[in-house]
Amino acid sequence: MEKKNIDWANLGFGYVQTDKRFVANYKDGAWDEGCLTSDATVAISECAGVLQYAQTCFEGMKAYTTEDGHIVTFRPDLNAERMEASCKRLEMPVFPKERFVQAIVDTVAANEAYVPPYGSGATLYIRPFMFGSDAVIGVKPASEYQFRVFTTPVGPYFKGGVKPLTIRVCDYDRAAPHGTGHIKAGLNYAMSLYAIMDAHRQGFDENMYLDAATRTKVEETGGANFLFVTKDNKVVTPKSNSILPSITRRSLLVVAKEYLGLEVEEREVYLDEVKDFVECGLCGTAAVISPVGKIVDHGKEICLPSGMTEMGPTTKKLYDTLTGIQMGRLEAPKGWIQVIK
Ligand SMILES: *Cc1c(COP(=O)(O)O)cnc(C)c1O
Repeated sequence: MEKKNIDWANLGFGYVQTDKRFVANYKDGAWDEGCLTSDATVAISECAGVLQYAQTCFEGMKAYTTEDGHIVTFRPDLNAERMEASCKRLEMPVFPKERFVQAIVDTVAANEAYVPPYGSGATLYIRPFMFGSDAVIGVKPASEYQFRVFTTPVGPYFKGGVKPLTIRVCDYDRAAPHGTGHIKAGLNYAMSLYAIMDAHRQGFDENMYLDAATRTKVEETGGANFLFVTKDNKVVTPKSNSILPSITRRSLLVVAKEYLGLEVEEREVYLDEVKDFVECGLCGTAAVISPVGKIVDHGKEICLPSGMTEMGPTTKKLYDTLTGIQMGRLEAPKGWIQVIK
């Protein structure tokens, strides 16, 4: 199989149409067989549930070429389970886990020519999503849905080296205590767009959201969970029911404990104690971990000792170990790597 003629190292994070995508439709209470198609457009009613009442959720994951030339993906069963939780909360039908994983495998295999080669730093981003596709005008769930999976090659996240982020404590809230912060719903992103653009206009890379009820505890950013490192090298991550359960973060905690022998703590993290941490990172599929160099709380600067030029030492070890597992350089815990080809 010949790879596409793409300048992998200089790819950004944007949509590049690939050859095939998976589509399944839900109608009369059941999912159809589904199939791979070359058609990258969706035609739906102007009154579709997704267009009127934002009934949609999604997932994000990646396929990699490993050191020994296999194409693999990382813990797709967890994406299936998380999408199931999202669908249930949004009154959408669940796409069964085994079928979800098979759809990922089939879609990636059909776009093998777009899976970046080992060592390029680029990856194939995979986007499963579901939306209400038939007309609803009274407020209620749609009765027909479409589940799709497309892929798009994306470039190395740290192009030209790592650059620690400057983030601000945000005055807008991301998620209410009993709301939808814990599911991967498009609506959580729609309402965060103003806050992130505002952060950018003020010169910040990201927003640190606090818990909406008391505004004293750290939650997450718009699209990544926090990891902190204490002076005595303990890895700490915020615990909250309104945080999206990042698969990267959950995996990093296992890596910290099982591979690096570090103590880990998942607990409430108060904004007041952030000044005492020595490292801070944002975890998600896109970057694995992006280091944070500075946190600004209404003019008051918290400068992490790891500084503005590199990852802190523990963050770096976590990053190297997890990417080593994903790229097949290190042995993975059982069930973490799904071989596609
Ligand atoms: C997707 C997402 C993350 C990261 O989750 P991963 O499974 O690690 O990619 C974190 N926070 C939010 C709000 C997200 O939507």
